[in-house]
Amino acid sequence: MLFDSHAHFDDPQFDGDRDTVLKSLKNLGVGYVMNIGADLETSKAAVALANMYDFIYATVGVHPGDAGSMTDEVLEQLRTLALENPRVRAIGEIGLDYHYEGYDEKVQETCFRRQIALAKELDMPIVVHDRDSKGNAISILREEGVKNGVMHCFSGSAETAKELVKMGFMVSFTGVLTFKNARRAIEACGAVPLDRLMIETDCPYMAPEPHRGERNFSGYVGYVADKMAEIKGVSREEIAQITTENALRFYGIEK
Ligand SMILES: [Zn+2]
Repeated sequence: MLFDSHAHFDDPQFDGDRDTVLKSLKNLGVGYVMNIGADLETSKAAVALANMYDFIYATVGVHPGDAGSMTDEVLEQLRTLALENPRVRAIGEIGLDYHYEGYDEKVQETCFRRQIALAKELDMPIVVHDRDSKGNAISILREEGVKNGVMHCFSGSAETAKELVKMGFMVSFTGVLTFKNARRAIEACGAVPLDRLMIETDCPYMAPEPHRGERNFSGYVGYVADKMAEIKGVSREEIAQITTENALRFYGIEK
C-alpha cells in the first residue's frame, strides 16, 4: 500500500468527479492520502474530506502565497480545527515562496513563524513549502529549532537534502523525479537515507511522466515510487513499504 503524503483533493479540478477518483484509489494500491491545507478555506475542506473518507488525513495551514491572509482570527481557527479534529496530523503547508513577483518577505516570514509556533504548541509536525527562498526557509527552521518536519516537493541540491536530514527532517519527492531534467532532484534523492524519504503527488499539480501536464491524482504516486526504487537500487515493494511506514510514523498514524 502506498501513502500519498501530500495531495490537494479539495482543488476545484476535482469538483466534477472527486468521489469517483477517491474511491478508485484503493484498487490502485494507494492506502493513505494526506490532504494538505493551503489557506483557511482549503484547510476546512481538507478536514471535511478526512472526516468523510477513512484513508484520508488532513493538515491545516496557510501557504506562503497566501501569507497576506494570516490574522489572529485565522490562526485561532487553524488551532481550533487542529484541536477538534483528530484526523488533523500536521500544520502545513507553510514556508516561503519567492517565485512570483509581488511577494513580501517580511509578511511571509511572520506567517511562517506564527504557524511554527502553533505546531510547537500543539506538538505537531510541520509540512514545509520552500520555493526560491535563497536559504531563508532553512535558516528560519534552524532558528526556531524545528526538528519534526518534512520538506515537501524537494527540488534542492543533495547538499541541502543532507542538511535537512541532519536537522531531523523528512524529505519528500514528487513526480518531478520522473522528469527529463530531474538530475538535481535525483541526486538529492540519492543522498537521503531510506528512513527519511516520503513520496507524494502534490496533485492536481506535478503529474509524473508519462502523464506530465495532465491532472495529477494519488493513483500516479506509484510512478514516484518506481523512480525512487531505481535511484535507491531497491525493489519497488521495499520503497512502497518504507515510504508508507515513514509517512505513518511522521504523521503519527496507526496502521
Ligand atoms: Zn502542496
